Amino acid sequence: MENDCLFCKIIKGEIPSHKIYEDESTYAFLDIHPINRGHTLVVPKEHHENIYDTPSEVFQSVMKTVHLLASKIKQAIGSEGINIGINNERAAGQLVFHLHAHIIPRWSDDGHMHWHGNPYQTGEIETIKDIITQEFK
Ligand code: 5GP
Ligand code: ZN
Repeated sequence: MENDCLFCKIIKGEIPSHKIYEDESTYAFLDIHPINRGHTLVVPKEHHENIYDTPSEVFQSVMKTVHLLASKIKQAIGSEGINIGINNERAAGQLVFHLHAHIIPRWSDDGHMHWHGNPYQTGEIETIKDIITQEFK
């Protein structure tokens, strides 16, 4: 628990939230500024800032809840699709520094654009693969 963490306060009930689901290790509630209706946040009850400092078993418990809720939310809201996302660090759009997964109902005509990819230069993809796989050695 972190005293000044918004999501820790929500989990403790010190700040109200619209709870969707709770189990021994995770808590899920409606995002207050939804991209679409039914946009839900899933958080671990343990405070961890982002994916890097979240133990694997805690992260897995979050993903288990995401997996359970994704189809329930799609069914209930009647969306055409669901995006799952986790923003890590400010550069990636993280605003609340308690790990959370977004479950976002989507419609093909909801106006939210998919990201645009950029092609690799010749040979670049092999270099990037080598740089990343080096981390496992
Ligand atoms: P991030 O950008 O950190 O991935 O997402 C933070 C999310 O938390 C945002 O989508 C924002 O709307 C949501 N949020 C911020 N403050 C509150 C709050 O007090 N209550 C709820 N339910 N959601 C919040
Ligand atoms: Zn917290």
